[in-house]
Amino acid sequence: MRTKQGKPDKCKYCDSTRIIPGVNGSPSDNEIYTLKLQDKIALIGCFEIIKGCAIWACADCGEWVQDEAYLYDESNSELIQAYEDAVKNAVDNLEVLSETEMRKLIGFRFLRSYSREYLDDRIFELVKTTESFLIKTADGTKHEFVSNSLIPIDYFGMMDDYLGEEGTKEFAVWIHKKEREAVATRVASGKIQVKRKDIASSEGQSP
Ligand SMILES: [Zn+2]
Repeated sequence: MRTKQGKPDKCKYCDSTRIIPGVNGSPSDNEIYTLKLQDKIALIGCFEIIKGCAIWACADCGEWVQDEAYLYDESNSELIQAYEDAVKNAVDNLEVLSETEMRKLIGFRFLRSYSREYLDDRIFELVKTTESFLIKTADGTKHEFVSNSLIPIDYFGMMDDYLGEEGTKEFAVWIHKKEREAVATRVASGKIQVKRKDIASSEGQSP
């Protein structure tokens, strides 16, 4: 029998120790949304937390802790205590963000999430169009996001805001459970290029 403890020490997928509690709130709740954006909580996609629900998630790779010892179980007092403390701690330490900071953070999260999806292949570009924006991957494939889809037109603007005046930012991204360094650069007005730093980029220049 394994000894049960309240909170997992680390993520078994990526070894990160940033384990955060899952909360079943609505993203329309400002406080919940802000905490989620800051990686202080994860959102559980079920209506009710019942026995067997995963309640801990990794802030770095986004995986839920599925180890049986850490699934919700009302009879496990250590688990419940640690979980409730973690939720309370997150809520008590809520950092309220200005609208500008919020836009940058949302922009960063979009860049990171597209990077998880498209940076496998070393490089991709985001290009603003009149309709919205599109993603061009290294092999020339285009993914278009139009303003009437679920992706609002302004998401490109938020990513651009994140890059700030200097026009470039480096960030970590988990790709296939490995941490990679990415660099996003505004290469022209309305054009953002994202590259992996760990792969030599002699052919990285894009017309
Ligand atoms: Zn992880």
